[in-house]
Amino acid sequence: EKQVEDRWRKYPTPQASRHLSNEVDADAVEALEAAVVEAYPSVSHRYYRLKAQVMGRKSLDYWDRNAPLETLAPKTYGWDEAKAMVLDSFSDLAPKFADTARTFFDQPWIDARPRPGKQSGAYSHPVNSERHPFVFMNYMGERRDVLTLAHELGHAVHQTLCSPLGTLLADTPLTLAETASIFGEGLVFERLLAGASKAERRGLLAGKIEDGINTVVRQIAFHRFETRFHAARVAGELSADEIGAVWLETMGESLGPAIKLNAGYEHYWGYVTHFVHSPFYVYAYAFGDLLVRGLMEKRREDPVAFAPLYEDLLAAGGTRTYVEALRPFGLNPREKAFWAAGMSQLERLVDEFEALV
Ligand SMILES: [Zn+2]
Repeated sequence: EKQVEDRWRKYPTPQASRHLSNEVDADAVEALEAAVVEAYPSVSHRYYRLKAQVMGRKSLDYWDRNAPLETLAPKTYGWDEAKAMVLDSFSDLAPKFADTARTFFDQPWIDARPRPGKQSGAYSHPVNSERHPFVFMNYMGERRDVLTLAHELGHAVHQTLCSPLGTLLADTPLTLAETASIFGEGLVFERLLAGASKAERRGLLAGKIEDGINTVVRQIAFHRFETRFHAARVAGELSADEIGAVWLETMGESLGPAIKLNAGYEHYWGYVTHFVHSPFYVYAYAFGDLLVRGLMEKRREDPVAFAPLYEDLLAAGGTRTYVEALRPFGLNPREKAFWAAGMSQLERLVDEFEALV
């Protein structure tokens, strides 16, 4: 069905329609893919080898891939503690970010208290540019709730900064939609890590690295699976066994030798519903996440020069493409080097983890 549709609409490749709807060009996606694949050995392969070592094993069964390493009772954070941590982290970036976020606590425009009948989830809703955003979440005091608060307030600050553009232009393209949220979360994570004991650090790092691998490395492996599948499909229908073989090949190369692809794993392509319902959607997760890591690397170089450029990027809302948005930073997402810088941030987390093994 997809082939017929692509032929009718004269799309040159199976990915083309998705790139168009994502407002992304194929060059950038290819550069992204190449950088991630190049980093497989130093990020995912190395991390899983270290994780197996921590768990006292030579290799890990695939179901232990995301097993938590932390056995300590989870630390909890009071609301005021979380608020202080988020505002302090935001003000490290620039006072304006903390001031904007503080308004949401003062008004208050955050519905954080859990109560019977309240739905789950979290978001910051911009409403429209003549109103103000509302933040929704359920704060239970766990570490991930502090990160969720930072994530949603990142969105809230972004939405506030671009609201002068008006409702239609404020809306960001998919590629930049998670920039402020992931950035906010990253800042708070650094603060949590700095304040953690040695025993906590290892578990914290493991969780952060696994999130990174699952969002960047794994989604790119999924993308390569789709690419190989659609290329093979040109010659005719594929049997379930043939699809399984493409799956094992693409997953195996991303996970590396420390993860066992036990019997049954060949069927796991069936759980990724995107492959059927939104072909070539998965790379967008890697794209958005790694783009922010690239920006974070830029901030490491010169935090003072970074802040005004970053504020400007957010305030531009949907008026600039991601290429235009990154240009003032001297970054070019059509080049592999941009994405490789983002991967080196993940690699550094694995270095830190290795030092604690
Ligand atoms: Zn978000």
